[in-house]
Amino acid sequence: MIDRAFSMENLGGQCIINLCGSGETLLPPEMPSIIRSLLNAGHIVMVVTNGTLRDRFDEILGFPGDLLARLFFKFSFHYAELKERHLLESFTNIVRGVKKTGCSFTVELTPDDSYLPFRDEILKESAERFGAPCHVTVVRDERSKDLPLMTKLNYGQFVEAWQGFKSDLFAFKWSIFARRRKEFCYAGDWSLNVDLASGNYYQCNKGLRLGNIYKDDTVRFRPIGNNCELPYCFNGHAYLCFGVIPELITPDYVSMRNRICSDGTEWLSETIGDAFRSRLYDNNEIRGLLRRLVANVENTMLRSRIYARMKKLWRKHENRNT
Ligand code: SF4
Repeated sequence: MIDRAFSMENLGGQCIINLCGSGETLLPPEMPSIIRSLLNAGHIVMVVTNGTLRDRFDEILGFPGDLLARLFFKFSFHYAELKERHLLESFTNIVRGVKKTGCSFTVELTPDDSYLPFRDEILKESAERFGAPCHVTVVRDERSKDLPLMTKLNYGQFVEAWQGFKSDLFAFKWSIFARRRKEFCYAGDWSLNVDLASGNYYQCNKGLRLGNIYKDDTVRFRPIGNNCELPYCFNGHAYLCFGVIPELITPDYVSMRNRICSDGTEWLSETIGDAFRSRLYDNNEIRGLLRRLVANVENTMLRSRIYARMKKLWRKHENRNT
């Protein structure tokens, strides 16, 4: 099912596919074979992981070198938990093993307030263990629909606390934090959010369901346009840096993920670096004013309650006639 659904033919070319579970991504035993299928199809694959499941890495790192060159891991660095559970050495060895096999990686810290007393320690440890300081993200509180900052610090104190890591990821995410995007966004056309389990795919983290990748004959694309429903683009370090909003000038995705180590080596391979420098607007068609207007009207119509009710009635009518 995965092979056909995610073939280059079905998706319209090579994609950068980010795999992220609602818990640890590599927990399901079938993950290595899914990753291999996506790599075999010719895509660039990114895996978000906490770097604790040694067996999964042993299996994945045994893939042929040409596949590993297109594989990237985002290691979430849960420093305090790793230290407390005596897993810091194992985590470090997994990161180093990934680097040795030619895969690319990044190490990212979630700046929880409880880490504040350990900032200098984390900075030093990550530089020693991974060759460069970890990147830092901006953490949101998903319990509120406005997705506020998850901290007891005020904005100034928060930035002051974490800017010492000199992370471009942190700087960019902070620059787009709490800013609703009003430009025309091509999410849904140039990028999709796919639920791997059900096959349902959506325009973005929020937005219309466009279809089911396992059932549809061809993938349906429909840009979200000026209808972004989120209070801000919390994954904009990926979406925006890859260019879903062409008029927005942003750094590239390389700067969100790479670090140059003290020995001159880098966290990203040349292959992944080239892919992460690419912009979607260089390889996809930019719509004229009229087609953007049509996309906006269609989106508004498809999201309306009247349309949903009409669809329901039509389904009822069809069921009655079958
Ligand atoms: S969240 Fe970002 S990528 Fe998604 S629709 Fe909104 S602006 Fe576009």
